[in-house]
Amino acid sequence: MMNKGLLIVISGPSGCGKGTVLSEILKDDKFFYSISATTRNPRPGEIDGVNYHFLTKDKFEELIANDGMLEYASYCDNYYGTPRKPVEDMLNEGKHVILEIEVQGAMKIKEKCPEAKFIFILPPSLQELKRRLNKRGTESAEVIGKRLNEAVGEIEQSYKYDYALVNGELSLAVDDLLAIIRAEELNLKNSNNIINEVLKNA
Ligand code: 5GP
Repeated sequence: MMNKGLLIVISGPSGCGKGTVLSEILKDDKFFYSISATTRNPRPGEIDGVNYHFLTKDKFEELIANDGMLEYASYCDNYYGTPRKPVEDMLNEGKHVILEIEVQGAMKIKEKCPEAKFIFILPPSLQELKRRLNKRGTESAEVIGKRLNEAVGEIEQSYKYDYALVNGELSLAVDDLLAIIRAEELNLKNSNNIINEVLKNA
């Protein structure tokens, strides 16, 4: 029987570069990136259904009421949530599902799905985080300020995760992330199949 995929939850403060790290590993189609729903406005270049499902507040609340969200949270005055069905379907198909979500949502997943693995991506320093957020240039000074405030609180909660890695040099962060996932693939809790395969003709 095929193993179910791993549920991998990735958090990190806004501007830590988690999107860039993830875009590297997502080139492998054993991964499925869960497209979140949000009520925030699209940034220039973001596409509905690709980066996010951009929803009105009413539509988002309707989905919550219909139990359509695996988790959701309010972050910097907007809702963000993980549509339930694609996650369940892809895990059953054996894909590793990546949830790129903030800390409150991650802790809800921890209650509902204790087998999930939690990975936190840290910036090298708060100064570097601020520099990266300013460089991105997609948010107003006010929004950047809010996100930096959130960042400290989020980093303080990173000890609740299973793993933390620093995104200093991109290629090293990608290697670290892949090493964590490979170790989890080989964890016997997730892959009894390899032993059964060897014993098949005993
Ligand atoms: P951004 O506005 O920069 O795209 O995302 C803001 C924060 O919301 C990031 O920390 C991002 O990981 C988080 N986020 C994105 N999608 C979800 C989601 O579905 N649920 C939760 N709880 N957080 C999310």
